[in-house]
Amino acid sequence: MSTATMLSPEILAKYQPVIGLEVHVQLLTASKAFCGCVNKYGGDPNTHVCPTCLGLPGALPVLNRRAVEFAVLAAKAINCEIRETSVFSRKNYFYPDSPKGYQISQFDKPIAEKGWIDIPAGSGKDGATKRIGVTRLHMEEDAGKSIHDGFADSISKTYIDLNRCGTPLVEIVSEPDLRTADEVFEYLTKLKEILLYTGVSDCNMEEGSLRCDANVSVMLKGAAEYGTKAEVKNVNSFRYIRSAVEYEIERQIGVIEDGGRVIQESRLWNNAEGRTYSMRSKEQAHDYRYFPEPDLPPLVVGAAWQAEILKSMPELPEARRARMIAEYDISAQDAATFTNTIAFADQFEAAAKRAKSPRRVASLLTSEITMRLRLSGLELDQSPVSLDGIVLAADLAESGELSSKMLKQLFDTCFAESKDFPAIYDRDKPRQISDTDAIETMIDEVIAANPKQVDQYRGGKKTVAAFFVGNVMRVSKGQANPALLNELVTKKLDALGPL
Ligand code: ADP
Ligand code: ZN
Ligand code: MG
Repeated sequence: MSTATMLSPEILAKYQPVIGLEVHVQLLTASKAFCGCVNKYGGDPNTHVCPTCLGLPGALPVLNRRAVEFAVLAAKAINCEIRETSVFSRKNYFYPDSPKGYQISQFDKPIAEKGWIDIPAGSGKDGATKRIGVTRLHMEEDAGKSIHDGFADSISKTYIDLNRCGTPLVEIVSEPDLRTADEVFEYLTKLKEILLYTGVSDCNMEEGSLRCDANVSVMLKGAAEYGTKAEVKNVNSFRYIRSAVEYEIERQIGVIEDGGRVIQESRLWNNAEGRTYSMRSKEQAHDYRYFPEPDLPPLVVGAAWQAEILKSMPELPEARRARMIAEYDISAQDAATFTNTIAFADQFEAAAKRAKSPRRVASLLTSEITMRLRLSGLELDQSPVSLDGIVLAADLAESGELSSKMLKQLFDTCFAESKDFPAIYDRDKPRQISDTDAIETMIDEVIAANPKQVDQYRGGKKTVAAFFVGNVMRVSKGQANPALLNELVTKKLDALGPL
């Protein structure tokens, strides 16, 4: 928890924070946005460059078709309307990592607008959601990178790597609909999940494929107008963004409480110190002198092309969760776990389709297996028990051939010996007592020893049957066939007739 100031809860409660996000997402195209250079992270500095992305005089941009398709897919996935004719504009500014002296972007006619993302509201437990507006999604190109350290003469020089220059981006701008740092976190989590499902980006924050600027302001609760915003730039993890927003909210309240005013500026998050620093003032709003890019024609994405692009829209996470809950009778929480990544969801579904009871596969996976993975410090993909192994275990449990106690023992062995379930089951298969006479004898003993419970059952309290099942199971050292045992207990007790 960042404590910018020592503000009391009473003072904090007087204010309403307001937050809007600008998220830059690199698209996973093979080549760059306007030239044929490879679009790939890293590489020796200045090796993925050509006259176009270096901004050499006379070089002309040619728009990457795939980048447009990815932008449309991403836009549709967050419920945006596509503008049939959008326009690229030059955003003019000077910075060493941008050799042209301008960035090709979209300004007044972006490719997509008016979308939304639903995030969990409140605790999120009751399934309630809050809709966060997406103002626009537009296409643009990335800049290169300034390298400030790592060289002997870094103290006096800045080096420039232009490999990233011209990488296709979409910028996704939210409405100022977010109210807390937690909502910011939820919004980014949902956005990233949707983008990963569409496959348009790898959303790798460490490599900068997803970057977020948070616009933060505060106002007195009930005020008619939003306060002045400050923009916290380039925070490179969701966790840090949460801290940065929390810090910034408290900083601004502190400034106002001290009789000052918040100035419109860009600020940088310093994670080591847990605070933001002023970077540059935005008081005199930037004049980017936008004008339409003369070297690119308007971009037309007609109905036919849009329909073609939409064919590659995958089932999105929310829809997939809903379907999986209905189709496999699993809990919302399990569905959320399984849809964490497309790969995991696919694996679970493949297993669920082979199993007698998908619900049992789900519960073994989220309880028995997850618990043992945690205890042995393993990730799911390192589990000794494969999904096939879980399906077999679930089927055996479902048919009553394995009691839950036996199942636990077998799983323990799998983890102790690092072997899959089918092998351990073949070797250690517990001899189950499925002999009716033997089980009946044990039931008779337990009935004889517990006359009070027998009377309760005969008096109409049918749930007491579980008491007898449990006791017989204990007498059998967990080896009685559970399905058969259940059946025989009920038969025996019913045979005694009502009181
Ligand atoms: P600018 O012209 O400074 O770029 P925009 O109106 O384009 O500002 O908004 C940029 C981002 O800032 C958007 O995500 C928007 O939701 C957010 N934003 C706008 N006004 C505020 C405010 N008062 N407080 C917090 N965020 C805001
Ligand atoms: Zn190039
Ligand atoms: Mg703006």
